[in-house]
This record gives sequence, C-alpha cells and structure tokens, in this order.
Amino acid sequence: MTQPHSTHVPHAVSRLRSSRLERSTRPFLARGGPHGERCAGCRLILSHCLCALRPVVATRAGICLIMAEHETLKPSNTGWLIADVVPDTMAFGWARTTVDPALLAVLANPQWQPYVVFPGEFVAPERMITQLLGEQADTTANTKDVSATSKRPLFILLDATWQEARKIFKKSPYLNHFPVLSLMPEQVSRYRLRRAQQEDHLCTCEVAALCLNLAGETLAAQTLEAYLDVFTEHYLRAKQQQKLNWDDDLHQRLRDLSNLHDLHDLRLPANP
Ligand SMILES: [Zn+2]
Repeated sequence: MTQPHSTHVPHAVSRLRSSRLERSTRPFLARGGPHGERCAGCRLILSHCLCALRPVVATRAGICLIMAEHETLKPSNTGWLIADVVPDTMAFGWARTTVDPALLAVLANPQWQPYVVFPGEFVAPERMITQLLGEQADTTANTKDVSATSKRPLFILLDATWQEARKIFKKSPYLNHFPVLSLMPEQVSRYRLRRAQQEDHLCTCEVAALCLNLAGETLAAQTLEAYLDVFTEHYLRAKQQQKLNWDDDLHQRLRDLSNLHDLHDLRLPANP
C-alpha cells in the first residue's frame, strides 16, 4: 500500500483495519490485487482515489462502530466512509469472548448518551425508542428528560452482516442497558425512495446518515450520503476498469455540500 494522496491521519476504522492486517496470516489481503496498487487513504486503486474529495463535518453526535472482524478488511465497507466524514467516529472490533476496555470506557463516558441502533422487532418494547431521548417530550415540557438532552448522542452501529449483527446484539451484555433506537419502516422507505435505492437493506453509512438526521445534523447527513454516492461510483468504475467523470452530478453535489460546509465554518467565529 502507498501513502494516501491526502494528508489525513489514519482514522479509527483505518487503524482497526491495520491492526487486523497485522494479525492476518493471508498477506495477499494487504496488496492491491490484480487491478493495481491501492491508496491507503481510501482503499481504491490510485487512478480512482477519492481522498481529494473527502469532506469532514464536525458533529455534536458521535458514531461508535462495532465491527465484525472481516468487515474491516472489505474494501467496500462503508463504516470507513463514516470515519472519513465524522471526526467523532470510534471503531471497535467485536469478539464473542472479550470486549475492548476502550469501548467500555467510551460507553461509560458521561458526555455521551449511547443509543444502540437496531430493529425494534427484536427488542422488548420498553427498551425501544424511535426518537432521541428528550425529543418525545417536546410537547410536554415538564416531563422532558433534561439529563438526556444535555448529553451528546452516541449512535452505536453494528457494522456486520445481518446474521452477525444479530449475534453481536444478543451476545454483548454491555449494550443491554442502553435504549435501542429503531429506525421506523416509514423513515427507511421514505429514505430509500428519495435516494432511489433498490436494495431493501441499508448500508452502515446510510444508517449513520439517518441517525444524524434524527439528531438534527442535516448537513453532515447529506454530506455523508453524497460522499457514499461518489465512493460507490469510484468503487464500481474501478472494479469495471472504467474512467471517472469528475464533473458529473454526483461529484458536483459533493463539492456543493463541501462548499456549504466551508461557509458554515467561516461563519462560526463571528457567532460566539
Ligand atoms: Zn485515496
């Protein structure tokens, strides 16, 4: 692998991938494969490198990825994209018999209100919520949970296949005392319609975008979606050995959102 084209420092998912590769007994995994050398910054072949387009959007919400082991090695893993865009992304590998003490420390940190993002039909109804804590009580201000609203939301996403995610959910007792945020079918189908997605399964990056939307972080959510679209385009074109059109609508949308974000940043100092 070569250095990334950008100067970004390796993020949480990148570090997790590196430590997984170090333990790998299959050295070919680290190489670029038959189609050429890959960029260490975005995992794509150098001609399709995405690093120059990578947007970073600071958020109040945090994302905590709990990743199935092999997920970190997949060049198509979209948890990576979340870590690209959202600086407060943490990533931990999951194992049935051990738990990373750093994960437990994050979950115990009082600045965060953790939410396990998982389908509600698999959970006891009293544990399931469909909005962030404090939001439901908006109309009845005296019952509003102030402690929950003053904390930063931390979305725990299980980055794995559906079977693995169910296993992680069932066999991680340290997640048991957190509310389960269930994305409602209407939200998901409206989302799919808007994004013209054919698959009935949302990828981890799309789930993160929905969560950020729920937390009111619209710019971050839109940026993440636009970045996912551009990544998908680069990934597929690389796979099919096709050239990219850097000026198509997908790229333009991402650039527009990045410009919005720059403006947002410029305005911040004048707004104490
Ligand atoms: Zn790159």
